[in-house]
Amino acid sequence: MTTRRQFIGALPATGAAFAFGGALVAEPGAAQAQTGPALQPGHFHPKGKVPSDYTQAVYEAATKDLPFDDTRDFDEFNKGFIARRSDPVIPSDTGGVAWDDSQWAFLDGDGPFDAIHPSLLRIAKLNRNFGLYEVVPGTVYQVRGFDLAQTTFVRGKSGWIVFDVLVSAETMRAAWELFQEHRGEGLPVSAVVYSHNHGDHWGGIRGILTDEDATSGRVPVIAPVGFMENAISENVFAGNAMNRRLFYQYGILLPTSPYGYVTQGLGPRVSAGSTGLIAPTRLVTGAIEEFEVDGIPMVFQNTPNTEAPSEMNTWIPGYKTLWMAENINATLHNIYTLRGAPVRDPLRWSKYINEALYRFSDEAEVMIASHHWPRWGKERIKDVLRGQRDIYANMNNQVLHFANQGVTINQIHNVYEVPPGLQQMWYARGYHGSPQHNARGVIQRFLGFWDCNPATLIPLSPADSAPLYVEMMGGAAAIMARARTLHDEGSYLLATEILNKLVQAEPGNQDAKDMLADAFEQIGYQQENPGLRNSFLSGAFELRSGIPIGDTADTSSPDVIRSMTTEQWLNFLGIKLDSRKAGKAAFKINLVTPDNGESFVIELAHGTLTNIQGHTAPDAQLSLTVNRSDLSNVMSGADTFEAMVGAGKVTVEGDLSVLGQLAGMMGSFDPLFEIMPGTKARAEADEGASLEAVVGKAVAE
Ligand SMILES: [Zn+2]
Repeated sequence: MTTRRQFIGALPATGAAFAFGGALVAEPGAAQAQTGPALQPGHFHPKGKVPSDYTQAVYEAATKDLPFDDTRDFDEFNKGFIARRSDPVIPSDTGGVAWDDSQWAFLDGDGPFDAIHPSLLRIAKLNRNFGLYEVVPGTVYQVRGFDLAQTTFVRGKSGWIVFDVLVSAETMRAAWELFQEHRGEGLPVSAVVYSHNHGDHWGGIRGILTDEDATSGRVPVIAPVGFMENAISENVFAGNAMNRRLFYQYGILLPTSPYGYVTQGLGPRVSAGSTGLIAPTRLVTGAIEEFEVDGIPMVFQNTPNTEAPSEMNTWIPGYKTLWMAENINATLHNIYTLRGAPVRDPLRWSKYINEALYRFSDEAEVMIASHHWPRWGKERIKDVLRGQRDIYANMNNQVLHFANQGVTINQIHNVYEVPPGLQQMWYARGYHGSPQHNARGVIQRFLGFWDCNPATLIPLSPADSAPLYVEMMGGAAAIMARARTLHDEGSYLLATEILNKLVQAEPGNQDAKDMLADAFEQIGYQQENPGLRNSFLSGAFELRSGIPIGDTADTSSPDVIRSMTTEQWLNFLGIKLDSRKAGKAAFKINLVTPDNGESFVIELAHGTLTNIQGHTAPDAQLSLTVNRSDLSNVMSGADTFEAMVGAGKVTVEGDLSVLGQLAGMMGSFDPLFEIMPGTKARAEADEGASLEAVVGKAVAE
């Protein structure tokens, strides 16, 4: 049995799609069981609390310290507005809701916003730009607020060149329709440019393009070198863990509410429609390449291993428009991504911004990017480029400066500070990357996880060390009493230290979990950064209600599976293999795919599954010959080798039972594994999660 789950896509409808391990309704007597501040009537959770006086004090300090009188972002956000989409709902093709702008209507009113950091509230309002905007009269337009990212239409000789195509076909189609209604003049899509390999910039391609448009050459699809490989590989190997961690960073199960999910720093959130991928037909391979796209001269600047492994900026001299992909944002971006990804290189990122500054900015009159709003005028463009250049360079250099003085990964977030001048620049605020988690990421990149204290080198697992702590602290009652005092005096991180030990030692202690949730909630409320807020609030949610169970919308993405190389798939099978089940078994399988001319030897030895391309083994126990086009169905779980053998699609030589042995050695990846102790309420392990669910939607901001 295969159950498809697509958590990233489950967004606005999440509340309806999930059942909860613990009841999400008011429980008799719940109020008496609470600690700390009073229950909040408008809160979505019966155990939810109001922000404490300490949390309010954090907001008051931020209101005083931050440059709220600098309203240029709002001016730029409003400039060129043409029209909203009349219907806030964009239906999904499978009968659900891909997008519902009305869920953020609460942000338009006067509050209460007493549980939202004022700076976070600011970016949430700036992400409320649901409509069509003019960037350059007659030639450059954007639809914003239809997805996490936005889409840009640039006038070509015969039609519109589309820069980035959102996450879902449904939202992209709606964006195109809104554009056509007001400014598109009925002209077709004449080219597509993918700025980089993250899914929020290519997943919606099927909303405006067919395979035939691309393969016939009628509509060139342009992308930076390495695009396809990176579009898939960033999300395969640790995909199940990444998808689970999205619950935290992206707050996927949190209701949209002043007390829950508010926004993502880069945009309102990820849409919940269907994702597809059409391969590029032209790759930009040089460091700088100039060529015409639909008759318009363009200069492409490859910026590999910056915000994404495969990314490029574009200078359009005829329109004096500089497209900075996702290298420039109205926020500090992630160096380390909380959901999990290799740590990025901020120095290289900074240098590519600097190159764009020196190469293009003297002529640029407007700068646009994959997220947020345009910047008009040379001085403004140069200021933003310089500031964004410096925030990444500073983070790299100063964190390493401290590291060279002995500051460790466990201290750096309490030591590193963004330079005061940049703290006053809104575009350097931590709406996506936070200075805290990014600083730890820089150390991770250069020095790794270890702080060089032997006590932390091979530590006991939390559940193994916690019982001794609890015993030495005098047991649960003493810890609860002390934690309540710490909580009530606003020392939430200290309360978390001891409550976490208690919860690790006593996963069934719901009073302890509730008190830890209360501390998490206040810490979450205090965050300017949505990823940090969502992580603490999601932790609180799971501690109170358990892990959600149930299926989400089926928004499968066979395009992504088809786009995996056979080697990537075989590598992934090596990860799915459970060495303990393999034991001492050993065999070789030849896999030949004639339609693409590939061959592999897959070898099991020492409980390890390896593969090598370009070889076949004469002593293999089994040789399989199958077209790669058919193999894709096995990869996606739509078919099995056994069924395809029966159907004559696979040529078999040797012992087919080897395949059954191998299948029996595979482990299963539970897409809802437990994170906080004692929160797993699921009745049965999920044995059937398909590879597709594991690969997910490949959004990796
Ligand atoms: Zn993006």
